[in-house]
Amino acid sequence: MGFEAVIGLEVHAQLATESKIFCACSTGFGAPPNENTCPVCTGMPGVLPVLNRKAVEFAIRTAVATSCRVQSRSVFARKNYFYPDLPKAYQISQYELPLAVSGHIDIERNGTTRRIGITRIHLEEDAGKLVHAGAFAGAQTSLADLNRCSVPLMEIVSEPDIRTPEEGGAYLRRLRDILVYLEVCDGNMEEGSFRCDANVSVRPRGQKEFGTKAELKNMNSFRNVEKALEHEIRRQIELIEDGGAVVQETRLWDADAGVTVPMRGKEEAHDYRYFPDPDLLPLHIDEAWVEELRKTIPELPGEKIARLASRYGIPRYDAELLSSSRLLADFFEASAAAFGGNPKVTANECIQWKEAIVAGRLSPETIAHVVEDRETGTISATASKTLVEAAIGTGKPVRQIRDEKGLTQISDAGALEAIADKVIAGNPKEVESYRAGKTGLLSFFVGQIMKETRGKANPRMVQEVLKAKLG
Ligand code: ADP
Ligand code: ZN
Ligand code: MG
Repeated sequence: MGFEAVIGLEVHAQLATESKIFCACSTGFGAPPNENTCPVCTGMPGVLPVLNRKAVEFAIRTAVATSCRVQSRSVFARKNYFYPDLPKAYQISQYELPLAVSGHIDIERNGTTRRIGITRIHLEEDAGKLVHAGAFAGAQTSLADLNRCSVPLMEIVSEPDIRTPEEGGAYLRRLRDILVYLEVCDGNMEEGSFRCDANVSVRPRGQKEFGTKAELKNMNSFRNVEKALEHEIRRQIELIEDGGAVVQETRLWDADAGVTVPMRGKEEAHDYRYFPDPDLLPLHIDEAWVEELRKTIPELPGEKIARLASRYGIPRYDAELLSSSRLLADFFEASAAAFGGNPKVTANECIQWKEAIVAGRLSPETIAHVVEDRETGTISATASKTLVEAAIGTGKPVRQIRDEKGLTQISDAGALEAIADKVIAGNPKEVESYRAGKTGLLSFFVGQIMKETRGKANPRMVQEVLKAKLG
């Protein structure tokens, strides 16, 4: 009997604001422990949180970019639990009335489009972190670093619309790219600014009802999310086929062992006793603000991929690689505009030099000139690689480097003179006409030499040699 997986993903994205969500402390990464704290984010009695407008703006822009409906009224709630990295003993989140609902993201898989629903987007604050410090006075000790307390997070919850680990990976990558395009999150999964919990269940193919789900945590890369899902789906299917039943629980992905292990069951699940935070007024967002922010939404990855592929006639795969970064896609378009040659060649170069381009170490002219020089046969493919590397290293114009390094093809004057002699000897009629004043024939001779050298001769030197010999 065939089984089908049902997957829903919950993403926590750290918003790229300068200050925290309810106080003016810095969100800067890597500060000494507890340096970025104040009475508000350390939860001292009697303090009042004040909502960061920028964080709301970022969440609204994300909602618009994912076709969500921004609710005119949303409410902050206290999620109560005790943990040493949470001094207030509650986290401020949104529960019953989130900031936005009912959106979707389209992903393209092998020529077909799949629409993955987004249930909700809400704002919340992060907790601190514990640093396990080893033994002290005979006991294992942990230290609390509260720098991350109240760093703004946005939670994005998908509908259970995902059917394969691969589709889950595609959804996550697209969501990450959208957030990065919007500049609301740096999207760094390894550093934890983009985290994902995965909910997964299986059911016999054709069955309408969902099976019991398990929640997977602790995956710190897209590949690990896919691997954890693959493993968990297999585990659940085998369990059912052996006559067992999946229990609702939270499981941890162990990347080294390549397995998921139980963390806590339904019975141990927290009861957070949510209630509206009395320190924060309901959040009212008017239509005019949403419309104003709608105007700031750039061309999004899906649109960009489709446009690059159709406008430049490049393969969709190339358009996807180029669109993996807004900067890279802009760079490609600027290079293509600077030299109107074959965009596929320009695309190849941009993809090859992506790292340097994104680091701002290459100009579109460099790529345009290299592509043009290759198309005119001035330089070889090997030379073009050497040239770009040198341009990255020195910041010099690539054609200056080309000339300084003599990287044009067949630049040996003696060799070119010999070829010119041969061409001149073989075309006496043209030589006569040229000498009689039809100097336009020069290009004929250049062409003959290019043909003779299969495009490998340095065109400028060819002209000089010919002029000297024919003159
Ligand atoms: P909970 O109340 O346990 O948090 P939710 O209904 O809020 O569950 O859903 C949390 C996430 O789990 C969502 O992304 C949702 O799409 C997904 N989900 C819900 N039910 C299932 C299921 N049976 N199988 C897989 N994913 C599911
Ligand atoms: Zn603070
Ligand atoms: Mg839930």
